[in-house]
Amino acid sequence: MAKVLITGAAGFLGSHLCDRFIANGDEVLAMDNLITGNMENLEHLSGHPKFTFYHHDVSTFVHVPGKLDYILHFASPASPIDYLKIPIQTLKVSSLGTHNLLGLALNKGARILVASTSEVYGDPLVHPQTEDYWGNVNPVGPRGVYDEAKRFMEAMTMAYHTYHGLETRIARIFNTYGPRMRLNDGRVLPAFIGQALRGEDLTIFGDGSQTRSFCYVDDLVEGIYRLLMSDYAQPVNIGNPHEITISDFAQEIIKLTGTRQKVVYKELPVNDPMQRQPDISKAKEVLDWEPKVMRAEGLERTYAWFKNLPEGRLYRKEHRDFEDYKRN
Ligand code: UDP
Repeated sequence: MAKVLITGAAGFLGSHLCDRFIANGDEVLAMDNLITGNMENLEHLSGHPKFTFYHHDVSTFVHVPGKLDYILHFASPASPIDYLKIPIQTLKVSSLGTHNLLGLALNKGARILVASTSEVYGDPLVHPQTEDYWGNVNPVGPRGVYDEAKRFMEAMTMAYHTYHGLETRIARIFNTYGPRMRLNDGRVLPAFIGQALRGEDLTIFGDGSQTRSFCYVDDLVEGIYRLLMSDYAQPVNIGNPHEITISDFAQEIIKLTGTRQKVVYKELPVNDPMQRQPDISKAKEVLDWEPKVMRAEGLERTYAWFKNLPEGRLYRKEHRDFEDYKRN
């Protein structure tokens, strides 16, 4: 039985990872400052004898009692709207936060996996993206606070690996979807599904010709788990290579939800990547992993979850705590 610290545990991916390790019979220490995370994602684990929650910001010194086998660093805002609202905290969690957790890993003799992102490739000039592509990132654009912090995270993690011999893993996560995504955080899937459920038009940013490749959360969790258990310290893309334009994606959501609303076009956000598709040859080779859930099935499961939310949550603002937090 392993003891695992998961940061960002109350978030979309973090909470699914908690479920995975609890199902294994492992002991889970879940940590979150609840700025973009939500305790509703962990409610079902509360009271479980192998589950402990720490309300803590990993950008400040991190301590947990006793031994530790694994750390998974998944704390970070993860949507362009969040980066704009809390840019400094976005920078801090992947830089200072990563440094704190690497120090903790060293101190405990734990293996650490950090959640990096396809955003390290920026608006990519190479397609699909392989791990050896260095990216096309604007450091001072609105996404710079996220992209550069994640790039720093990778550099710091690799330095701990080479200098200290720490066991480190770097996952480059591409767009992922599934139950527990935040409804109103601006990401395209919850945006479209939320709009359909509220009877609003679906907002396409730009002309909708930009592409993304969406991975169902169960596949992602399996990929992360395999990477953690592997002996591979270089970055690995984890995502679904099935690419689709945002226009076609909107049509899929219209069909799925049966909404009678139409699409409306809004301005494309600054530095919005035009195309994105992971090359997952490395994950196939090193982890014997590839996604199994087709988008039609994943979307069905995700929509079923969103449909069952209490109606109040459809209209809830998700940024209620940001004003207070900005002073930290
Ligand atoms: N997008 C959109 N309508 C929305 C929200 C997002 O057309 O209501 C677009 C967005 O401009 C981007 C794509 O969908 O091109 C994916 O956006 P998301 O924020 O989900 O992820 P990211 O841009 O970080 O991949």
